[in-house]
Amino acid sequence: MRFAIFSDVHANLEALEAVLADARARKCTRFVCLGDVVGYNANPRECVERVRELDCPVVKGNHDEAASRLTPPGDFNEIAERAIAWTRERLTDDHKEWLRGLPLQTRVHDFTIVHATLDTPEQWGYVFNNLDAAASFTYQRTNVCFFGHTHVPMVFVRDESVMRERVEHVRIEPAKKYFINMGSVGQPRDGNWRAAYCIYDTENNLVQQFRVKYDLAAVQKKIAEAGLPRLLAERLAIGR
Ligand code: ZN
Repeated sequence: MRFAIFSDVHANLEALEAVLADARARKCTRFVCLGDVVGYNANPRECVERVRELDCPVVKGNHDEAASRLTPPGDFNEIAERAIAWTRERLTDDHKEWLRGLPLQTRVHDFTIVHATLDTPEQWGYVFNNLDAAASFTYQRTNVCFFGHTHVPMVFVRDESVMRERVEHVRIEPAKKYFINMGSVGQPRDGNWRAAYCIYDTENNLVQQFRVKYDLAAVQKKIAEAGLPRLLAERLAIGR
């Protein structure tokens, strides 16, 4: 099976649609979403609707939680907080209910998905090094787990002391455990503005990353028109 696995859409509709079209052209029939469908960019409703239409496994991200919980959050930085407040006003009760009901982690086929970490998924920790990954591996029961949250592609292999930063191709060996982040669709932070996602080909034990161009100017224009912080439009262009 060929799974298209994508994360951190962050209400960037143009990037989401470009990724879905690319995945379909590459013969993916199954989709998997690692959370943070909303937050930061200007199309939260449309992105929730597109992802729902896929009728695919989805886990909850911290922005999904903040945008949908009954009491407004107070633990984000100022710019994220402004975007969350704006997003909360845009989403309908139905959208919020769907976001609230998402699980923190789940199993799909023979792999696991989570937004942040498997050890304490509700605390939204960031995995940037082997120590962080080791805590999560303790709870990983499947060969492969995909995660998001950092917006930076990285692959951790248990019992390998070096984190892999070359993530274009990952060959899955059955005796090893993999904790894989393939970056963000809607707000990449690895210096590359193009939307990131991966395809997991379970027959051939191969995970491949793809980068997809989208109409960046259209997204930036929508951010400006929505009155969202200008920095959110600027960072998209530099992938930070
Ligand atoms: Zn995110």
